[in-house]
Formats: sequence, structure tokens, C-alpha cells
Amino acid sequence: MKQIDVAIIGAGAAGMMCAMEARKRGRSVILLDHAAKIGEKIRISGGGRCNFTNIDAGAQRYLSTNPHFCKSALKRYTQHDFIHMVERHKIDWFEKADEHASGALFCEKSATQIIDMLLSELFDLDVHPQLESTVSDIRQADGGFVFKVGSDHIQCASLVIATGGKSIPKIGATGFGFKIAEQFGLNIIEPRPALVPLTFDETFRAELKLLSGTSLDVIVSCNGQSFKDAMLFTHRGLSGPAILQISSFWREGDVLAINMLPDTDLFEALRSARQNSPKAAIHNVLSGHLQKKIAAHFCAKAGLEGNMADLSDKRLRALTDLITNWQIKPTGSEGYRTAEVTLGGVDTNALSSKTMQANKVKGLYFIGEVVDVTGWLGGYNFQWAWSSGWCAGQFV
Ligand SMILES: Cc1cc2nc3c(=O)[nH]c(=O)nc-3n(C[C@H](O)[C@H](O)[C@H](O)COP(=O)(O)OP(=O)(O)OC[C@H]3O[C@@H](n4cnc5c(N)ncnc54)[C@H](O)[C@@H]3O)c2cc1C
Repeated sequence: MKQIDVAIIGAGAAGMMCAMEARKRGRSVILLDHAAKIGEKIRISGGGRCNFTNIDAGAQRYLSTNPHFCKSALKRYTQHDFIHMVERHKIDWFEKADEHASGALFCEKSATQIIDMLLSELFDLDVHPQLESTVSDIRQADGGFVFKVGSDHIQCASLVIATGGKSIPKIGATGFGFKIAEQFGLNIIEPRPALVPLTFDETFRAELKLLSGTSLDVIVSCNGQSFKDAMLFTHRGLSGPAILQISSFWREGDVLAINMLPDTDLFEALRSARQNSPKAAIHNVLSGHLQKKIAAHFCAKAGLEGNMADLSDKRLRALTDLITNWQIKPTGSEGYRTAEVTLGGVDTNALSSKTMQANKVKGLYFIGEVVDVTGWLGGYNFQWAWSSGWCAGQFV
């Protein structure tokens, strides 16, 4: 039987960070992953450029049953610490800033630079991730844990579960971490896909078919949360950053309120068009504010046609309401197949916010996305993986 101080299952963002930190403390470390390639989520992240952190990373950007849990880790290993490592490896980065959001940091060239950076740190510390490793039969023994990798038995003092959430099973995501948590009696906050496109019934899809592929800036609101960003009509429903953000707050049965002209007083604009261009057709006037296809669709939906002069205040108000407070009820989401993250996970009440160790199972740690801490879109999820991985690395 192979003896090791620290076994880490899952060589993603959190697992690699934890391995580095544990090794720096002189611990012997084995880093295992069942995938054939390392860091696949990092590679596909941020459109291939990895949005590796956010300048504004702080507890206010995370969802969790216990919103305070992430504070300590985010303070002890900050976005600036990670930026420092990126700069030490001479990786050029840029901040994506537009009128909606700022602070999201991306690689100038490619997300693979982040994977190469982490691997180079690991290799310098003589940690060599073992891929295509299937772990089974985990049990407590002799003050630590014993488990199987293929036909080999490994004994470790500290066992770190860094297997992420269920999002994108195609590249290796599993519910493994949740199963291990359950095996050791830890509570799970029901996992659900988040940062995910929302889907609609057939009637809605048929109605909006012609708009598929168009996007516009909106404010979308649900359950007391609003996001101002781009929204994309797709053949399945709605996507784009505004929809991904609100999907984390939406629950089955909830209605979304969408303002498709957040920066315009549409009612006043329509009234003044009626005054100044009475012979103009309503859909042409609306096309001055929205893309032609979208304008035509919503005029038809409001039952409005003809010249401005023929439209009463009441009818202009109804059109304004439809466009600035469009109420729609998604039927679901695209699910784990396309979700960027998994909401929920290992209940933070079962873990120490200082060490990430299970309160009732000495030596068992959970880090990264498997824990019930989920960031908004914008680099926050990686920062949680780095911070929680780093913290556990100080104690395993
Ligand atoms: C398309 C996409 C784009 C994203 N873009 C961004 C972004 O730009 N910025 C951002 O902050 N976040 C982004 N995210 C989210 C981010 O990738 C995750 O939050 C982050 O990777 C979580 O890190 P982790 O180490 O906890 O888990 P992961 O990175 O998912 O790593 C878990 C590892 O565990 C392995 N594993 C799973 N089950 C087992 C098992 N049974 N045995 C052994 N190994 C196992 C997996 O193969 C994987 O390598 C994106 C996600 C997706 C899907």
C-alpha cells in the first residue's frame, strides 16, 4: 500500500492550487484526476482566454446558503495574489470593461497559459498529476483514509475532494464529490445548473423563431436581483450574459421581467415621434430604438400597426410596457450540458471556513466548486477555486 500525506482528487483549478500549497509545506502529495487531459475547464473558460479572476472579488459576488462562509478564504488568498502569480509567469492579461461591468481579467493570448503556469509551479515542486485515475472504495482507516486507484491501494492522512460540480459532463464533470460528502454524512445543498441559458415552451420558441441570433442590451430582473447586460435570442430560448447571471437567481415557476430599452424613456420618445412625424409607421419609429426584427415582432405582439397619428396614449403606453417590462416565464434551463457552474453543493455549515476541513470528519477537505459557494459571471468562480484551494493547502 502506498502511503502519502495528502491525496487530492480532482486536478482542476482548486486541486492544483491546493497541491502546490501543500507541497510548499513539505507534505507528500498525490494529485489524481479521471480525465485524460488536465485543466479542461480552464482551457474552455472565458471563451478560450480564461477569465481568471475579478478585481471586485468579494463575498457580495457569491451565492451560498451561508453568504459569510467564503469571506475568510477570499481575504486570505486574494485576486491580487493570483494576479501576482500570473505576472510572475509573464502572462499578459487585460481587464474587460464595458458600460455594464468592469474588473474581469482575461489572458491576452490563451487560457492554456494559465494551465501551463499551474503545471510549471507543480513540476517545480515535483508534483506530477496522475490522469486517467479512477478512485474507488474510499474509507476511513488508521486516522486517515484508504482508497483504490485502479487496483492499487493508497493510504493518506488528508483527503481533499476537488472534483468540481456537475457542469459539462462531456469534459469530465461528475457528482463524485457530492457522493463522497454523503458517504461521510455531510449535508448537500441541492445542486442545480447555474450561469446557464434559459429555455421556453414551444409556443414561445415558435413566436420568437425569427429573432434567433439577435442580441440587445437589457435589464433583466428576478427575485429582487437585476442585471444590465446583453441578452441573446436563441432557437431554444434566451442566453447572453444578462440571462446567465439571472439564471442563478431564477427558480422553476418564476417570471423574468425584461427591460429591452433600459436607457430610453420610450413612452416620451413615442409621443414626441407622434407629434413630429405623425405619418411615420409605428414599427419604423420603434426601429429607431430597437433592431428592425425586434421592433416588428413587438409591434405585432402589441397589435399595433399604422401611422403614429392614429395611436392613442393608451396604446403607446401598452407598447412601452411590453418592451420595458416584458414578463416571461422560462420552463427550464439548458441544464448541466451547457451550465458554467453548479449552484449548491457541500453544505458550508459542515466545513471550516478557515481550513475547508469537514467539521466532523478529521482529514477530509472540500474545495472549489463542489462546495456550496457559487460566483457570478466574471471570474469569481475561479477566484473561489484558487482561494479555497490555497486555504486547504495550508492545513492538509
Ligand atoms: C464553459 C465554461 C466557461 C467558464 N468560464 C469561466 C471563467 O472564465 N471564469 C471563471 O471564474 N469561471 C469560469 N467557469 C467556471 C469554472 O470553470 C469553475 O468554477 C472552476 O473550474 C471550478 O474549479 P474546480 O477545481 O472546483 O473544478 P473543476 O475545474 O471542474 O475541476 C474538477 C476536476 O475533477 C475531475 N473529476 C471529476 N470527477 C472525478 C472523479 N470521480 N475522479 C477523479 N477526478 C474527477 C474533473 O475531471 C476535473 O478535472 C467556466 C465554466 C465553464 C463550464
